Amino acid sequence: MKENFVIAIDGIAGAGKSTIATGVSKILKVNKLNTGDIYRAITLKYINSNAKIENDKDAKKFVKTLDIKINYDRRKMQHTFLDGVDVTKGLHAYEISKVVSTISHFKPLRDYVIKIQREIAAKGNIVVEGRDIGSHVLPNADYKIFLTASVKVRAKRQFEELVKAGDKKVTLKDLEKEITKRDYNDTHREYGALKVCEDSKVIDTSKMTIDEVIAEIVKYVKGN
Ligand code: C5P
Repeated sequence: MKENFVIAIDGIAGAGKSTIATGVSKILKVNKLNTGDIYRAITLKYINSNAKIENDKDAKKFVKTLDIKINYDRRKMQHTFLDGVDVTKGLHAYEISKVVSTISHFKPLRDYVIKIQREIAAKGNIVVEGRDIGSHVLPNADYKIFLTASVKVRAKRQFEELVKAGDKKVTLKDLEKEITKRDYNDTHREYGALKVCEDSKVIDTSKMTIDEVIAEIVKYVKGN
């Protein structure tokens, strides 16, 4: 395993990235950066402020209003602050999930997020999870992992999570539709599109447990 390493974990929506990246970071005793939460915090601001973002010019103006900061507590948990308020807990609401991939399309917003990501990663010893981390944000990451899983499996996993969290409105069909749309948006965006790098280790998590995936990544990192 390299010293002061950066591990990039990318993958499609609902492949289990966040849980897996958290598990890997815990075993290796380092921080984890959930980059989706930064895009989600931006989306929260967009929803609350009734802003209009239809093109890069609108997005550029909107970026000037953004104040997003990341902190870690003593348990190495990430907290995302929007305008000085810790918004971490509400970021996975369905209302945000529905809009986030449309909002994260705009280059000025992606540039704003890339700057935050690179500043945090520059300190090293970190697991960074997202969509374009290995391919675009941190192309020199020491280890690159790409996680994938079928739409059906991902929708079922998210459905179970949302029901557990008390969501009574959402249906499996809604989630399958939303995931398919997000996959399309994430792979077809002009900037920072989701793509597998040549030097990524690809893991299909459809038939694996979370623990099996975590163990495979840790073994890979420790052996290289
Ligand atoms: O990872 P999560 O599903 O929370 O990310 C929410 C959305 O944020 C993604 O669907 C994607 O549109 C956007 N995102 C991105 N680039 C990243 C991380 C997330 O475009 N590095």
